[in-house]
Amino acid sequence: MRKKIVAGNWKMNKNLADAGTLLSDLKSKLGQVSGAEVIVAPTFTNLQSTVEALKGSNIQVSAQNMHQAENGAFTGEISADMLTSVGVQTVILGHSERRAYFGETDALLAEKVNTALAHGMKVIFCFGEELEDRKSENHFKVVEGQLKNGLFHIEASAWKNIVLAYEPVWAIGTGETASPEQAQEMHAFIRKTIEQSYTAAIAEEVSILYGGSVKPANAAEIFAKADVDGGLIGGAALDAEGFAAIAGSF
Ligand code: PEP
Repeated sequence: MRKKIVAGNWKMNKNLADAGTLLSDLKSKLGQVSGAEVIVAPTFTNLQSTVEALKGSNIQVSAQNMHQAENGAFTGEISADMLTSVGVQTVILGHSERRAYFGETDALLAEKVNTALAHGMKVIFCFGEELEDRKSENHFKVVEGQLKNGLFHIEASAWKNIVLAYEPVWAIGTGETASPEQAQEMHAFIRKTIEQSYTAAIAEEVSILYGGSVKPANAAEIFAKADVDGGLIGGAALDAEGFAAIAGSF
């Protein structure tokens, strides 16, 4: 049975003190949540303190990005080894903000995926079409291309370390959510695409999260769809009560 997962991407929000407050609120509110794995992704400077703060809790920690190289002259960058050395075993790769503002291409993401997997890390691989792609009815083609070019070089055995996050760019931080039907339609397409390139068993086992303006008010109807296994949450993950409500929406 594939896992239900709710992951909170804090982006460039929360300093050390604010992160500490959010984490202690989350720990008390999420203690009762069962039925979904919960992950938080704070910024780099808060990763180590978050790992410490969450010891003994059922909340996992993810990084928001990492560099593809093992080490070297890459000023300002963070490696997989650095992440795992502070107890971080999961990384978000391919977020649309990394693609749009930092020029991350499918080819670069393929390298990052390889590095993360080589370090035994779990990857939350993000992808999704822009508004123009949907308007021109190219959204399936765009999503298929992102998957095939950024991820489908991995071996079948590596899929156990992959979580997918379909995030239509037009729904991220805009308040506009894909309808549950639109999410389901795309998630079913993604599963079919995996089945065609790999196996039905791999397609059936991989968790596919939806991301894009998920809130307590709309989470339950989106998560109720057959091929939606949870959410990657941005804005609403910054509030402990709202995030706990989303995590409890299954
Ligand atoms: C995201 O950035 O991954 C995201 C889904 O953001 P939001 O929930 O704010 O739309």
